[in-house]
Amino acid sequence: MESILNYINGKLQAPVGQTYFDNINPSTGKAYCFIPDSDERDVELAVSAAQAAFPAWSSMPAARRSAILVKISELITRDLEKLAIAESRDNGKPLWLSKSVDIPRAASNFYFYATGILHQSTEAHAMEGMAINYTLRQPIGVAGCISPWNLPLYLFSWKIAPALASGNCVVAKPSEITPYTAYMLSALCIEAGLPAGVLNIVHGTGPKVGGPITAHPGIPVISFTGGTQTGAAISKVAAPMFKKMSLELGGKNPNIIFADCDFDAAVKTTIHSSFSNQGEICLCGSRIFVERPLYEKFKLAFVEKVKALKVGDPFHEETRIGAIVSKPHLEKIEYYINLAQEEGGTVLCGGERVYPEGELASGYYLTPTVIEGLPSNCRTNMEEIFGPVVTIMPFDTEEEVLAFANSTKYGLAATVWTQNLTRAHRVAANLHSGIVWINCWLLRDLRTPFGGVKQSGVGREGGFEALEFFTEEKNVCISLK
Ligand code: NDP
Repeated sequence: MESILNYINGKLQAPVGQTYFDNINPSTGKAYCFIPDSDERDVELAVSAAQAAFPAWSSMPAARRSAILVKISELITRDLEKLAIAESRDNGKPLWLSKSVDIPRAASNFYFYATGILHQSTEAHAMEGMAINYTLRQPIGVAGCISPWNLPLYLFSWKIAPALASGNCVVAKPSEITPYTAYMLSALCIEAGLPAGVLNIVHGTGPKVGGPITAHPGIPVISFTGGTQTGAAISKVAAPMFKKMSLELGGKNPNIIFADCDFDAAVKTTIHSSFSNQGEICLCGSRIFVERPLYEKFKLAFVEKVKALKVGDPFHEETRIGAIVSKPHLEKIEYYINLAQEEGGTVLCGGERVYPEGELASGYYLTPTVIEGLPSNCRTNMEEIFGPVVTIMPFDTEEEVLAFANSTKYGLAATVWTQNLTRAHRVAANLHSGIVWINCWLLRDLRTPFGGVKQSGVGREGGFEALEFFTEEKNVCISLK
């Protein structure tokens, strides 16, 4: 089997310890390549390389940095097909989704930030007759970027691109569960002429690679996307070291459907917002609240459409639900489906394993699941499942549904379906959520602030906010006397 390699100081190299572990293809349940089991020695090499590269990269004119990053974007687009196949094999997501969303978005991330730095400016504050202040925005140094498995190259590049564009060097760790496209990106960076050491990618586990990145005194800024518990563990180490941190964490997003909604659009989009990417998107809605007069009609139409979603081979055009990313994750989802029933819920559809024919028989497939009859405050409705499982509940008043929606420890995203403009604005303003979509879902403008409130995260990614996160402001005051 092929072995993935680390990308350190411009070279693809084996881990210092020369040990590897299996990378499983979730659609077959079989190992298909080896992942470096790197450790703090590899992180140390990566940090040294990044520190050595920093003076030249941070002082390079923005236009030159931009050109290199645009080139990376172009190479991702050139290799879209190959990268999409690799992403679907690693993650289990349908190939059409990798082709239309994951890989194009990775290219856009590089392009957006590569060109964004050409339009940046800083402020000046004049003190009449006395002095003028101006703000310098300077890159921080070596940034640590740690990303999850659900949108592998998409989220990896969402951090790396602004970090690099703003003049930092990077030590990055993709999820051990989906490392392959990050490995392919290494080769594209070499081809694009990214100077050695500017980006370093160290593969391996959270504790052995993510831990040393978090704790390294030479990494003053950490950008992390993943689970809330891991975010807390990272904060425990990084906060006492006064590292700058951006944390994009879990969610338990509500979909609020009022009786006056555009019914067909609400049903159709709620199918997407519930089950896209097997429900493994931090922005997926997992709690559907429907105003009582519409409840039965919505439920029947929704369940009928969910039952029709084709589960199976990620490489089949008609597949809507591919493989769950790993066996432990499949088991976690099944645990919650059982818990929901113990808590009094009724499974309206789904919750069953699927065993396709041939080599896919040992893959991790689950039918999309809709559960009703649960109180809004039970564990199933409070804890993140992160799979193709939603609960559906009626509500009577706006106040009541806001209380339900805001009752979890999370606050990442929400959708609201109504034709009443005034109510849409009012509900959006009162939701405890970093992102609210009205009559749509996952419409993403890369300029907008992205992130959550409460235990869904700290800080915002996206737009100039990400470039600001990866820089330090310095005020310079010049006396005019
Ligand atoms: P995890 O928190 O398990 O892992 C995320 C990353 O952190 C992985 O690279 C992981 O490595 C690494 N890691 C694990 N332990 C440590 C540690 N102690 N120190 C440093 N790094 C560590 O999340 P998942 O990969 O399971 O992703 C799913 C979660 O991500 C969900 O909760 C989801 O909501 C959230 N998410 C949030 C998003 C947002 O924008 N808010 C977007 C997408 C997902 P390894 O994989 O090797 O264990």
